[in-house]
Amino acid sequence: MKKSISIIGGGPAAMAVASFLDPLQYEVTIYEKNKSLGRKFLVAGKGGFNLTHSEEGESFGKKYTPQEIITPAFKYFDNSNFRNWLEQIGIPTFVGSSKRVYPTKGIKPIEVLNVIISEIEKRRVIIKYDHEWIGWTDENDLIFSNKKIVTSDFTIFALGGGSWKVTGSNSIWIDPFQKKNISTIPFTASNCAYKIAWSTEFINKHGGQPLKNIAIRCQDKIQKGEGVITDFGLEGNAIYALSPQIREQLKSQLEATIYIDLKPTLSQEKINNIFLNTINKKVSDVLRKKLKLNATQVDLIRNHTSKETFINPSLLAKAIKNLEIKIIATATTDEAISTVGGISLEEIDQHFQLKKLPHQYCIGEMLDYDAPTGGYLLQSCFSMGAYLAAHLNKTY
Ligand SMILES: Cc1cc2nc3c(=O)[nH]c(=O)nc-3n(C[C@H](O)[C@H](O)[C@H](O)COP(=O)(O)OP(=O)(O)OC[C@H]3O[C@@H](n4cnc5c(N)ncnc54)[C@H](O)[C@@H]3O)c2cc1C
Repeated sequence: MKKSISIIGGGPAAMAVASFLDPLQYEVTIYEKNKSLGRKFLVAGKGGFNLTHSEEGESFGKKYTPQEIITPAFKYFDNSNFRNWLEQIGIPTFVGSSKRVYPTKGIKPIEVLNVIISEIEKRRVIIKYDHEWIGWTDENDLIFSNKKIVTSDFTIFALGGGSWKVTGSNSIWIDPFQKKNISTIPFTASNCAYKIAWSTEFINKHGGQPLKNIAIRCQDKIQKGEGVITDFGLEGNAIYALSPQIREQLKSQLEATIYIDLKPTLSQEKINNIFLNTINKKVSDVLRKKLKLNATQVDLIRNHTSKETFINPSLLAKAIKNLEIKIIATATTDEAISTVGGISLEEIDQHFQLKKLPHQYCIGEMLDYDAPTGGYLLQSCFSMGAYLAAHLNKTY
């Protein structure tokens, strides 16, 4: 007789595991509290919709904090496997200039979602909507808010993190896990905007302006990319990727320091020489005409340096390469693209099984790990789902 598997939640991690479980061995049911699957997946689709990233092997793994969370799952199902699988089910992808992977032009996010859902349905997975899981009975059966009690041989939780509650991942599920003495970490924002005390004058003039082709450093990590000045502070891929370092400093020092390199392709020495060779010119003219910095970048330098620095070529060259800016807070978890926190990684084994509840597993963003935007989050959900399915199918 077939064994039963209940998957709780209906986001990418749930859909991934459901896509790979063997229908000959298992009767699989997804229980989702919403009336549809993949709501956050569709929100991701409205932005860049990076399904994964094309970066290779070892360096891919280094993007995760801690790296170990992804190593075995990524070894089994990496970004090439994911792209090949998407192609097989009818979603060809391409690598953009940023090395991020997108569905081929013309394929809408809803079509990607529908193809994945039809793949799940082909495997005779039952999908029950309007089913909110609220805890366990004393016998470890599943209780739903509509008073249904479900007994299954295996349970896979894929309940999501703490951001964008409107999509369903409201983190209320933390409570029943705590009651089972399963250790959880409070959710905090990651891949989010960071608060900077810009002056009103600066915001009025430059709010919404991008800072293109920059590099930002926090502690020993440097990330090239783009930032956007907002009335809250700074957002964009260059700063998102520094979330673990910024968070650590905010936690220990209540503020974090980042250093913006406005000219990553020029050395400090080269910039210094440019100043020395144009001695009689106004500083702002050199910045704009010789160094090709725009009005926003020039004002940014002005705002974050002293008058003495602004008129001293060698100090100014140093500031252009290392513009020190203080971060005083993160955006709220609800506004963030993703969160860290959730089920402590000490609670799961190498197959994502809860050590205190055998045959019950947790995957996806509900686990306490971090990854930058750019496709790494969705890749982790699909790697974990495919890897756990292979383990349960006894094929890996
Ligand atoms: C604006 C935005 C843009 C993004 N862009 C990208 C991108 O381009 N690339 C990328 O890799 N990632 C991106 N992400 C992140 C990515 O969407 C998430 O990491 C991913 O959706 C997490 O998948 P998950 O299955 O773990 O959780 P979720 O997608 O959050 O799914 C969890 C599901 O569980 C359900 N659920 C919760 N509690 C219960 C309960 N008690 N009972 C039943 N069901 C429940 C929820 O309704 C939800 O459907 C983006 C996120 C946002 C917000």
